[in-house]
Amino acid sequence: MSETEKRKQYKLNVGKIEEGFVIDHIHPGRAMKIYNDLGLDKLDCSVAIITNAFSMKMGKKDMIKVEMPLREYDLDTIAFLDHRATVDIIKDGEIIERPHLELPKTITNVIKCHNPRCITSIEQELDHVFYLTDPERGTYRCKYCETEWVNQNTRK
Ligand SMILES: [Zn+2]
Repeated sequence: MSETEKRKQYKLNVGKIEEGFVIDHIHPGRAMKIYNDLGLDKLDCSVAIITNAFSMKMGKKDMIKVEMPLREYDLDTIAFLDHRATVDIIKDGEIIERPHLELPKTITNVIKCHNPRCITSIEQELDHVFYLTDPERGTYRCKYCETEWVNQNTRK
């Protein structure tokens, strides 16, 4: 496929969005998890989820198109769930930005501490806060009890 054809196909894919963002190159099978963890099911905006789309780079990929401006904290959640994905921010039908995704230093209320004696297991209203301790392995630790959480989503 030529560069022009590729661009044309890409335009076709995002053409419908006037303002919003596209999460592309999602590891196949991970789109629903991202959709749920971003809380997109609770919002009144138009969302398109494409699974197992053809990708020259990856063979297969998932995509999510959202017609709503990206919230700052969404990027951390996306990076946490799949830091190899890409995010295109769309305004007036054009891609205006592709922010760099990296594992967030801290992550709040996305994963839960599994230590039954952790304060978050007792105090239900506490935020579940984890901080990144090993960026190579994607390891996080609970802010309250230091319990380790290994990021299964980290892939080379
Ligand atoms: Zn804990």
